[in-house]
Amino acid sequence: MKRILVSACLVGQPVRYDGTAKTVSDAILQAWREQGRLVIVCPEVAAGFGTPRRPAEIQWRRTGDDVLAGTAAICDDAGTDVTSLFIEGAKHALERAIAHECRYALLADGSPSCGSSYVYDGTFTGARHHGAGVTATLLAQHGIRVYAPSQIDELASLIERNA
Ligand code: SF4
Repeated sequence: MKRILVSACLVGQPVRYDGTAKTVSDAILQAWREQGRLVIVCPEVAAGFGTPRRPAEIQWRRTGDDVLAGTAAICDDAGTDVTSLFIEGAKHALERAIAHECRYALLADGSPSCGSSYVYDGTFTGARHHGAGVTATLLAQHGIRVYAPSQIDELASLIERNA
């Protein structure tokens, strides 16, 4: 059975920085849950962050690739550098994915951890740009295909085709 790593906030867990969830109400996701396919993870909570916590963004309009390469930082809105904890959370998510043989991940978009199509630019003004967070990037670097909630139909058809 194909298992899918999924962001905890997408399945109703109130683990986002502001103490909310980002629940996806979708019959496909519900079916995967009932089939026992979901491997649920919140990289930031796994790294030791509390909930709620200060919002954090990848700085200098960079992406998860840059963070993992050591050329960008992640800071919270008070200016504290939290890069190492975000990397720790990404490693935890990768370990879970490998342990459960997940070839796919469905992650919340926009997050400096889980974002896959866009992230915020580090100014805490709501400005965003194309790129992925550190967890999504690390997973992709290890061959795990990462999808945003807007791509759930595409992911479902891949799984159905056993791709
Ligand atoms: S780190 Fe990922 S799973 Fe955790 S709250 Fe942020 S987007 Fe959701």
